[in-house]
Amino acid sequence: MTDTTPRGSTDVVTDLKAWLVANWDPNLTVREWWEILGTSGWAAPTWPVEWYGKGLSRAEGVAVQRTIREFGALGAPGGLGLLLAGPTIVTHGTDAQKERYLRDIVTGARGWCQLFSEPGAGSDLAGLGTRAVKDGDEWIVNGQKVWTSGGQVADLGMLLARTDPDVPKHQGISYFAFDMLQPGVDVRPLREMTGRALFNEVFLTDARVPDDACLGGANNGWTVANTTLMFERSGLGAGGGAESGSAATPGTVRGDLDRRAGDFLDRRTSGEGGAPANVAASAESLLVQLARKMGKVGDPTVRQDLARLHALSEIGRYTMLRLKGGADIPGAGNMAKLSMSEILRLQRELGLRILGPLGALHAYNQADSDALEAATGEPLAGIITEMALFSPGPSIYGGTDQVQRNIIGERVLGLPKEPNNDRVTAFRDLPKNG
Ligand SMILES: Cc1cc2nc3c(=O)[nH]c(=O)nc-3n(C[C@H](O)[C@H](O)[C@H](O)COP(=O)(O)OP(=O)(O)OC[C@H]3O[C@@H](n4cnc5c(N)ncnc54)[C@H](O)[C@@H]3O)c2cc1C
Repeated sequence: MTDTTPRGSTDVVTDLKAWLVANWDPNLTVREWWEILGTSGWAAPTWPVEWYGKGLSRAEGVAVQRTIREFGALGAPGGLGLLLAGPTIVTHGTDAQKERYLRDIVTGARGWCQLFSEPGAGSDLAGLGTRAVKDGDEWIVNGQKVWTSGGQVADLGMLLARTDPDVPKHQGISYFAFDMLQPGVDVRPLREMTGRALFNEVFLTDARVPDDACLGGANNGWTVANTTLMFERSGLGAGGGAESGSAATPGTVRGDLDRRAGDFLDRRTSGEGGAPANVAASAESLLVQLARKMGKVGDPTVRQDLARLHALSEIGRYTMLRLKGGADIPGAGNMAKLSMSEILRLQRELGLRILGPLGALHAYNQADSDALEAATGEPLAGIITEMALFSPGPSIYGGTDQVQRNIIGERVLGLPKEPNNDRVTAFRDLPKNG
């Protein structure tokens, strides 16, 4: 197999391997292992040295994740804390906020979810209607969020709420680190076609958040939210390397912290409420393996699509290396995310084509999975159907494909924006969705 370690990462990988030999022990609890990993700087290696990181580049960060996985140790706490909340707090938080939140993110002590989307505000996120009203040193929050991934296992949420309806919509939003485990927060799981309940509806009724949990200052939430979205798009896009997600779920709710770290090594997913394992990262080799086993590897159309898949993944990886080398590529994050949507669609079509009729059978739980494997003799079938059923997701979350194209058109190519009066009219005077 080709060594994909970027040049310059060799020393980092050597140091990390030596560190893993000295520190990894599968008999530690998840809490103990993540404490060691997080405080060593290897859980968030791209963060600043003074805030639990090592100041490494994105490419080196990806090499770190891969090295931990290949070594056979449990990866850093996955989920939205490390991917989104942490980098946003590093960028916009005060020192007091960094002290309060970052350690628990790198050690997985508390899990996060993203309370952005609402029934009437998805692509038009700045049209959100959840209200936060100041009450002394606190804000009182009322409203409804939806599609909240991992909301049922989160301790904290990145909450966007409207704090001033009398100014244009982008100017009256604030961004809070919000306590999910309080009265007034009702989390209701939504089951999707994979059989999982990855996301939730979250109803907020007179919930409270302290003023000192507001990131970036009152009514400056749109700027902070864009930082989160930027990390989401580039992290989830092709070549972004967001593959490290550990099978154990961070935070106090699910109870994984007190279990043995070694028990999570062979698991593909963190199950209900956890994110599906990023099978995309290894899908290419899975599909080649499957094509060989099913006698389809000689089919020229299968070979052509495998080559296309490889080319798309490599373009993502090279783009990331160019960015690492200092190239200024406007819209790179948006293009990476569009490319990931394309890759997942291709994996779905190809995987189901190789599987043939077996692709109609999906396992919704471990018992189903065992039965399916016993009946078909094909352990990869369930992975392929899971990937196929989840494949529409990435072209929707973090901004749909259409929204990415709009951003590229308007902000990168300089095309005229859709005409509207959103930027000048007070939010309360705008026509509302749904
Ligand atoms: C798997 C998954 C996980 C998610 N997790 C989270 C989460 O944790 N937290 C969270 O806050 N949200 C989450 N989301 C929600 C996600 O961000 C929204 O679904 C997304 O922003 C789209 O919003 P919407 O569903 O309201 O669709 P809409 O905005 O109603 O869009 C409907 C359709 O219209 C198109 N459209 C809308 N506006 C335009 C336009 N101006 N130009 C062209 N086309 C347009 C869209 O592309 C789409 O095809 C998740 C979604 C998925 C699928």
